[in-house]
Amino acid sequence: NMASPALLMRVVASAYSVAEKAAAIVRNVMAAGDLGIVEKTGANDLQTKADRLAQMSICASLARKFPKVTIIGEEDLSNNEITEELIEDGHCEEILKKACPAQYSGIKEEELVIWVDPLDGTKEYTEGLLDHVTVLIGIAYGGKAIAGVINQPYYNYEAGADAVLGRTIWGVLGIGAFGFQLTEAPAGKHIIVTTRSHSNTLVNDCISALNPDTVIRVGGAGNKIIQLIEGKASAYVFASPGCKKWDTCAPEAILHAVGGKITDIHGNSFQYNKEVKHMNSAGVLATLRNYDYYASRIPNNVKQSLVP
Ligand code: AMP
Ligand code: MG
Ligand code: MG
Repeated sequence: NMASPALLMRVVASAYSVAEKAAAIVRNVMAAGDLGIVEKTGANDLQTKADRLAQMSICASLARKFPKVTIIGEEDLSNNEITEELIEDGHCEEILKKACPAQYSGIKEEELVIWVDPLDGTKEYTEGLLDHVTVLIGIAYGGKAIAGVINQPYYNYEAGADAVLGRTIWGVLGIGAFGFQLTEAPAGKHIIVTTRSHSNTLVNDCISALNPDTVIRVGGAGNKIIQLIEGKASAYVFASPGCKKWDTCAPEAILHAVGGKITDIHGNSFQYNKEVKHMNSAGVLATLRNYDYYASRIPNNVKQSLVP
């Protein structure tokens, strides 16, 4: 059968290369030294030239190949002059070789929604915490996150000149996730990973109630999901609004592809259809294993404070 690969696999294969191009943009802007920082809602909600250029590159590149797909990016870009040098036309051959799960093989362009966070962890990027940064491209169908790409542009940046800088993790429900070594967190320990720059009393009270052995505070939703799938943390807990659909879509697809679970703090799953409100108003609870332990210990007053 010489039929061309299913649309979903072509989109993921392109998203892989598009995310690599965005990662190069993120590194180049930092190397050039002029970040062009703009405050969005305040000093803890920033946009840089890297966020802007990476989003233009991702959205224009995917839209050119898949014109009927809905693409929703984090940044409001009114005057987007797309130059040809921002366009990535390539794809990952290895992804195209994988069989598309039967339930996704008939998907049409109009049925896909792509959620783009061109640079997750912007606050940390501006502060030089470079390995917190990720590029997130999440793919949704029927309101569910079914595939995703997470690029970490500065993976290995402190590992010396011999180490390969940057990596791309990708996954599809029903196929699995690739580009990293799946590792379980230490058994019997409660290692909580949470926000570094968006803490408040509720966030901290919720964590205290979970009886943590260790609390890891790092930037980025993508980065925190990587901590879960590489066994560095046992739960990602964020009892606050602030995180958006583009933060969770790609991480959710990858986490679910390896048997993990992500919901809001009440246990509701996230919806990713194009009409949905962007804010994850009722926070985030994610684990690779032992979701029920953490879900059952979220205090009632925390739940009452966070309306979905
Ligand atoms: P963090 O764990 O603080 O890095 O947050 C994960 C994602 O949610 C990042 O994209 C943040 O920018 C976003 N986020 C979380 N809380 C807020 C907030 N209070 N204001 C703006 N963005 C937020
Ligand atoms: Mg983000
Ligand atoms: Mg962002």
